Amino acid sequence: MDRYVVMGNPISHSLSPTIHAAFARTTKESIEYTGLLVPLGQFARSARRFFDEGGRGANVTLPFKLDAFDLAATKTDRAIVAGAANFLIARGGAIEADNTDGAGLVTDLTHNQGVRLGGAHILVLGAGGAARGIVAPLLACKPARLVIANRTAARALELAARFGDHGPVEGVALDAIPRDRYDLVLNATSTSTHGETLPVPAHALPPGAFAYDLAYGAGARAFVERATAVGMKAADGLGMLVEQAAESFELWRGVRPETRPVLAELRARMA
Ligand code: NDP
Repeated sequence: MDRYVVMGNPISHSLSPTIHAAFARTTKESIEYTGLLVPLGQFARSARRFFDEGGRGANVTLPFKLDAFDLAATKTDRAIVAGAANFLIARGGAIEADNTDGAGLVTDLTHNQGVRLGGAHILVLGAGGAARGIVAPLLACKPARLVIANRTAARALELAARFGDHGPVEGVALDAIPRDRYDLVLNATSTSTHGETLPVPAHALPPGAFAYDLAYGAGARAFVERATAVGMKAADGLGMLVEQAAESFELWRGVRPETRPVLAELRARMA
């Protein structure tokens, strides 16, 4: 049976083994997919051992997405643009890196949530690893404006400069968010998962706009509740997780799994 893993630290909370088991069942692909706890500082050694022993592919989560990118002999364009990898595949004895996070987010927003990105005014809160992976795929959908706002303004400015060739993007401090009729506000900070309140002004959460937290489940609850309380539509990042997994599964197996039943099953389990 072909073996796949998700590598991270911690890893026991990961839903990826459950998601891929469901994909394997519905597509009738015979695979084994498990979580692999990688000691800090040991990513390259663990990944090489896994592939040397015949592993076919890996997803990579916190805190190893930069290590995965550095390790790979070849990298896809979208991994290079993001500068990070959440996906590895064995190709002819070498390891190739890709990044399926951005595609997962765009698919969830457009297919599952019905959000229109073309011509949209988008506000991205945060400029960490997750933001870096989603800015280029969002700009590829041709929004009218994309503002990146971050607590450490320099990181927002750096990201905006990095992606300036991809579309109309600007970086600002979290306390200097320009007033606009934002259609979509994405929380890509780690405040939700750390149980902290995101210090943004009221005009950053406009009623009627769509709010999306990249975190999911209980981790996203505070932001989702705050957004719905002011009249926004809101969703957490569970769909992004499932869609990036589907993208990974298709790259490994050549079959696109259906995501809606898996999403529904996970939602029911979390309720
Ligand atoms: P990073 O640690 O790389 O970045 C954290 C970001 O949050 C930075 O921009 C940081 O600002 C900001 N931040 C942290 N604390 C505060 C605070 N108290 N006030 C304001 N800003 C703050 O994390 P990631 O980018 O990797 O992850 C961000 C989120 O995205 C997490 O919740 C993660 O779970 C989620 N995620 C979800 C995925 C999915 O598939 N659904 C995939 C990937 C990530 P500063 O630069 O100033 O420190």
